Amino acid sequence: MKEKVVYWLTGSQTLYGDDVLKHVAQHSEEMANYVSGHVPVTVKYLTTCKSSDEVVEAVKKVNQDENCIGIITWCHTFSPAKMWIKGLKMLQKPMCHFATQYNEKLPYDSIDMDFMNENQAAHGDREFGYIVSRLRMDNKVIVGYYKDPEALKELASWCVVAAGYAFSKTVKVARFSDNMRDVAVTEGDKVDAHINLGWQVDYYPVGDLVDYIEEVTEKEVDALMKEYGKKYTMGTDRIDVVREQAKYEIAMEKLCKEKGGYIGIVDHFGALHGMNQLPGLAIQDLQSKGYGFGAEGDWKIAALGATMQYMAGQKGTGLMEDYTYDLVDGLCLGAHMLEVSPQFASTKPEIQVHPLSIGGKSDPARLVFEGIEAPEAIAVSMIDMGDRMRLIIQKISLVKYPHPMPNLPVGGLMWKYQPNFKDGVAAWIYAGGAHHTVVSSVVTAQQMVDLGNMWGVEVVLIDENTEINSFKEKLLWSDAVWKTRR
Ligand code: MN
Repeated sequence: MKEKVVYWLTGSQTLYGDDVLKHVAQHSEEMANYVSGHVPVTVKYLTTCKSSDEVVEAVKKVNQDENCIGIITWCHTFSPAKMWIKGLKMLQKPMCHFATQYNEKLPYDSIDMDFMNENQAAHGDREFGYIVSRLRMDNKVIVGYYKDPEALKELASWCVVAAGYAFSKTVKVARFSDNMRDVAVTEGDKVDAHINLGWQVDYYPVGDLVDYIEEVTEKEVDALMKEYGKKYTMGTDRIDVVREQAKYEIAMEKLCKEKGGYIGIVDHFGALHGMNQLPGLAIQDLQSKGYGFGAEGDWKIAALGATMQYMAGQKGTGLMEDYTYDLVDGLCLGAHMLEVSPQFASTKPEIQVHPLSIGGKSDPARLVFEGIEAPEAIAVSMIDMGDRMRLIIQKISLVKYPHPMPNLPVGGLMWKYQPNFKDGVAAWIYAGGAHHTVVSSVVTAQQMVDLGNMWGVEVVLIDENTEINSFKEKLLWSDAVWKTRR
């Protein structure tokens, strides 16, 4: 992520003379360099904008630079905002308005009018904010001294989101099946997703995958089995069954790379002609490498998973499914029929072979483990409301299994919902959230809200402050607003 660049653009004007502008440039460079050392991307001072033409020139550079994922703007002095209109209208990357200052404390003893004119961010940032607001841009505003740890934390978080947004535009999903028959929530408008989220979702008949599977050599399988041996415990003597999964993994990865860089995969237990197992271990290991996965044709969750995995640095993030409740303790057991990411494992994953009572294929190999604990985690769902996508984000707490589940043949997670069990579940259902989610213990709720805003999709947040009646009202208003926005 450090290769990604966020350009720092400072607003000013010529009214205060060359000396002031020299200071403005020096300070801005110093501030950008300091910030750069505290965020996961590279922040570079680009220029001080003093006229409309200069803003346009700067934005052209920003738009053209492939490594550039966004800009930070700040007004050191007053910067008349009409000069920003043309440039901002051309801007194609996310913008964070950092309402900061070069000095933290006022120099009470020495302050005079020269100091006032040189350091008037409070003044300039308001003029700038007006025009951004007038242009209806959905930018981020972060407030604080540029060395303030809290402000830097927010900035670092936003930089990850901007990088995730850029990554999202490159996401390609290979789907080996259509959506499962009769299932509604996994459906969606792929063209809309391509236009607004950047996701390219392509279909490949499962026969194309089978061609790849047939070409996998025993030597390739040996090599991957060695990798499995390092990462996982072999809990079965049915080695041939495991080798079959290794073949699937090699074939899928090859197809994804050779056909044009797919980072998301979709399959369906009912569309496996020419294969004798549902990919379990194969998909789990691929998720551990950063691939997004969607089951039963759910391409939205595959693309969302790939994006969130990128933002999480491939840690603690993957496909989940709200499966079954403990209504006494207010818990949910999340899992899937096989494909739970080993990024969620708190115990060393064990390769096991068990029957699968669905799909009519042979017993598949899968990784079994207990899930991690994380007091602050999120579950995220993307649903198609018919006229726009709705991103639903819920705060959850991942908890330790309260009791051993020796007969559970899959990896899983257990969690508590925010704000509490009943309201958390009710809010999710009112919002239309899917059973498939991407859960993450690394990506934060705020980051997903910011990403949703960058995408320009409807964002619904369920957190500690959610109250059902006002939540329902919000959904109603939101629906009316979104009907007019597209
Ligand atoms: Mn499912």
